[in-house]
Amino acid sequence: MNLLEFQAKKLLMRSGVPVPRSWVAKNATHVPPGIGYPVVAKSQVPVGGRGKAGGVVVVKNETELRAALKKLFALEIKGHLPVAVLLEQAIDIDRELYLAIRLNRDTKYIEIMASPHGGMDIEEAPEKPSVYRWDGQTTPDDLFSFLNLPPEELAPLLDTLHHAFTTHDLTLLEINPLVVTPCYEVQPLSSEPSLPQLVCADAKISVDDNARFRQPNFPWPETTSANMRVLSGGTIGCIANGAGMAMSTMDTIVSAGGRPANFLDIGGGTGEKEFVAALKQISELPGVTSIIVNIFAGISRCDEIARGLIAAKQQLPNLQPVFVRLEGTNREQAGKLLAEAGIPIEPSLRACVEKAMRE
Ligand code: GDP
Ligand code: MN
Repeated sequence: MNLLEFQAKKLLMRSGVPVPRSWVAKNATHVPPGIGYPVVAKSQVPVGGRGKAGGVVVVKNETELRAALKKLFALEIKGHLPVAVLLEQAIDIDRELYLAIRLNRDTKYIEIMASPHGGMDIEEAPEKPSVYRWDGQTTPDDLFSFLNLPPEELAPLLDTLHHAFTTHDLTLLEINPLVVTPCYEVQPLSSEPSLPQLVCADAKISVDDNARFRQPNFPWPETTSANMRVLSGGTIGCIANGAGMAMSTMDTIVSAGGRPANFLDIGGGTGEKEFVAALKQISELPGVTSIIVNIFAGISRCDEIARGLIAAKQQLPNLQPVFVRLEGTNREQAGKLLAEAGIPIEPSLRACVEKAMRE
């Protein structure tokens, strides 16, 4: 999951990383109290390149801010309207650097990516960012000279970033630009006499989706609703994993003369809770008389699906008859669990469809 900038900045601030003071405008007429001008108004859309698209505007007073909010809330960027506008105390910029921390799943190492040419034109920079394998403790020596920053400035920042990265199960923490500023008041307010010189002016954060269970405080999306498409007039609900499997399930229903009530690819790694939520959502669709579950468990496990099914039967008194085709990891275990619960596994998808049609 990717965080929006204002969510990312909040995480950074709480982790002790210097970010500008900020406020959030929730709609086109919302001017939060206590703003110190000038501020930079930034469209909160889930894509980059906002600066070039007109989504970042510097304003000097409330009149300008009101005009900017009106404009920004109406401005679509790469197909997205903002959910909010972040207002940040404007910074004096000496230099814009690029600094990212990412998880390299191939090498199983955390890496630092850095470039002395940060900002909006990073793609056109004369050379690509340098990549350093990083143990989180020893900063690669040439990074300081490469970015032309003294170790006493950069090392503590890296330390804080590494801590934020690992404790929140991040896969990417990209700061572009990391601003070198002459003198600036940042949050969290420093008790040190000399103010920090480095400020994170933009942040892109990706959180590992598999860490959802450990990171309950992130704004995770509803598990299943995002992927589900409802088809009006259908009577047979379906759950499959993989878009191809979901489509072929629907095709099989249609070719047998039935009408699918929805499309749902519940994806890999689905646990019991997500599965119950999906069944509940489908069972509440108007007109549904039966549900087909067609799962080939690779990343997911048949026994977890079976547990989900059994839990759903117990928790959902109005659940329609469910016909199950289940293959893959832990199929035998699932068969036993389901047999004990009186739920048969059908020999094929076609068998499921034939039975579902009779309901
Ligand atoms: P992006 O285009 O979506 O990556 O949005 P950014 O947040 O990176 O903003 C784009 C550019 O706006 C930055 O590269 C900066 O040059 C500029 N910018 C952002 N915040 C400030 C600020 O506080 N003061 C000034 N002067 N410029 C800013
Ligand atoms: Mn940026």
